[in-house]
Amino acid sequence: MQVKAPRGTYDIMPDDIYKWHQMEQIIRRTAATFGYAEIRTPIFEHTELFERGVGDTTDIVSKEMYTFQDRSNRSLTLRPENTASCVRAFIEHSVAGGVLPVKWYYMGPMFRYDRPQAGRYRQFHQFGVEAFGSNNPAMDAEVITLVLEILANLGLHEYELHLNSVGCPQCREVYRQKLIEHIRPVKDKLCTDCQSRFEKNPLRVLDCKVASCQEAIVGFPNMYDYLCPECSEHYNRVRNILTEAGISYMHDNQLVRGLDYYTNTAFEIMIPLIGAQSSVAGGGRYNGLVKECGGPDMPGVGFAMGMERLLLAMNNLENNMNDPKQIDVFLALLDEKYETQAMNLLSGLRRAGIRADRDYNQRSTKAQMKYADKMGARLVILLGEDEIQRGVVTIRDMQTRQQSEVANETLIAAIKAILE
Ligand code: ATP
Ligand code: MG
Repeated sequence: MQVKAPRGTYDIMPDDIYKWHQMEQIIRRTAATFGYAEIRTPIFEHTELFERGVGDTTDIVSKEMYTFQDRSNRSLTLRPENTASCVRAFIEHSVAGGVLPVKWYYMGPMFRYDRPQAGRYRQFHQFGVEAFGSNNPAMDAEVITLVLEILANLGLHEYELHLNSVGCPQCREVYRQKLIEHIRPVKDKLCTDCQSRFEKNPLRVLDCKVASCQEAIVGFPNMYDYLCPECSEHYNRVRNILTEAGISYMHDNQLVRGLDYYTNTAFEIMIPLIGAQSSVAGGGRYNGLVKECGGPDMPGVGFAMGMERLLLAMNNLENNMNDPKQIDVFLALLDEKYETQAMNLLSGLRRAGIRADRDYNQRSTKAQMKYADKMGARLVILLGEDEIQRGVVTIRDMQTRQQSEVANETLIAAIKAILE
């Protein structure tokens, strides 16, 4: 029996990797222009970190984690997201004692036992940022601006920005009680998930995807009306900064993150044209999270974006990315007895930073030309007896179909001039 890749995973084949390289490069550059530095944390962590840092009433922790016992019977989990690990690293390295705010980004694979479909995998990739150490609404706005800048740099201009505030633990508690009172009479009409979680986490009912739950709760109270003066001021500042910057958004009172350590700003970005899984990024403020994970009282704000979904959106654009091809120069060997000369020539090209390759399978001259074309070579160098004796090579330009003779000494300069 042939073994296949596990359900919900996939290979990124060499033919497609350029798309990832280009997307990653644009994202890294944009993050760097905003002053974010990369952090790389382990792919697996102690299970407890996610139970605390993501919360055990979330779908992620309650149904989606890849958890296993290692050989010493420790419970470990493949990271389903990266915020908890960043918080752990922030605490573990006593980063709070240094200069604040600290601005980090990450990029890499995450693992969730999700139901695989277009835009939803069990191993997928996220790019995200965390900014620790400032409660300034301008920082919330910066983080949102960074997402939008990345989208723009990727050529993605059609999106919706949803924005809400979930307040602080004090004002949210008042709201929570109101919401529970509103939901309790219609409890029986809710899905089983919502029935079991609404007392503990009533905000989750607001973003339940089941249509009958939404019908049941119409007329629910709005968090915005319950924000305390400070939270209301914070939210208005974020909105004003975005408005002044010409960024349009929708206030969405059903955008919630139901855990106590999430505070104030919550946002989500959708690209409707990619279909059912249209959410490309989600984020917000988490002023209680660092403390919850055993660190100091430390504000934070961040987001995570799904890279497969970005690519899905980019695939809808024309001419957005170009395949850089495999090589620039192909060395056609016309006679096997010049193997040594060929190898020297090839080494020289490669050392000069030119992507060069040759035939290893004794192809005929004609077949070598075809092969060079397949690999995308712009130039072919023909190396035969006559050329070697005269200390020259013939260069064939596969684009213009023109051939010219170049002396060995000026070869690299000549090639670079053509490639530029
Ligand atoms: P969804 O409602 O689509 O499951 P989520 O609320 O679980 O999203 P977050 O935890 O906020 O998503 O993760 C941020 C982003 O990561 C999402 O907006 C999405 O683009 C991406 N993402 C989440 N889960 C997956 C997955 N299983 N496969 C691919 N991308 C994903
Ligand atoms: Mg999910």
